Amino acid sequence: GDLDVKVPVQTKDEYGKVIQTFNDMTLRLREAEDARRRLVADVAHELRTPLSIMQLKLENAQHAGQQVPPEMLLQLHDEVIRLSLLVEDLHVLSLAEAGRLSMDLKPLDLTTHLERMVEDVKYEAEEKGLDVRLNSKTSPVKVMADARRIAQVFINLLTNAIRYTPAGGKISVEIEDQVVDRGSIYARVSVTDTGIGIPEEDVAHLFDRFYRVEEARSRHTGGTGLGLSIAHHFVKAHGGFIRVQSKPNEGTTFTVYLPSCN
Ligand code: ADP
Repeated sequence: GDLDVKVPVQTKDEYGKVIQTFNDMTLRLREAEDARRRLVADVAHELRTPLSIMQLKLENAQHAGQQVPPEMLLQLHDEVIRLSLLVEDLHVLSLAEAGRLSMDLKPLDLTTHLERMVEDVKYEAEEKGLDVRLNSKTSPVKVMADARRIAQVFINLLTNAIRYTPAGGKISVEIEDQVVDRGSIYARVSVTDTGIGIPEEDVAHLFDRFYRVEEARSRHTGGTGLGLSIAHHFVKAHGGFIRVQSKPNEGTTFTVYLPSCN
């Protein structure tokens, strides 16, 4: 394409440096262009399936000369909600990837915040026969954070733990204050489940957008494939990071490190 230019560098003087800079810029432009093209392809791919399901259902009903039956309306409504969530997730993800995510940083007590989130997912977990528990030894754990963004991070991790853990399993959340990692002090929250786990070769790709360990299986669980990408970007925007430990058929731990503010 247009960006496939590379000028040979023949001299080491100013002129040579200009050419080198030009080549570096072209390479970076090409990478950005490739990333944009991949994103568009990914989005098209993700939108295609739910849209064709809806189209087919509506056409079949029309064809039979019927009114759309109520249970089909419910299914169509679910698909529409899934699509809206996907579009919303894509929107924040693209802002985050561009470094243009708005952040409303305020002192936040992680312990109270997490208690509320665990409460929010409790019903869903118990319906599935899962036990969710928050273990915090320390009282308030202070971080400078955007409460809404942090809530989305942990809701994503908790929802995944519920999704990928069979009935009878356990999910535990642990909070620790003042954890030192490579010379910096963090608040550390881990979400551990006794679920299906993640094969070692997949762990490196987990935070890639639309990555799913098993395409077919994961798609049916109702996620968008963006949850972990969003969690990764949101935590990074706070100056933190996430680690994963997992064993297939035993379970998974996601650990979030957020800069401490004590
Ligand atoms: P999804 O919406 O598909 O859950 P995510 O970005 O949240 O997308 O997660 C990406 C993939 O990582 C999932 O499809 C699933 O295969 C795997 N995964 C995430 N969390 C867990 C977990 N707690 N246990 C096992 N697999 C997980």
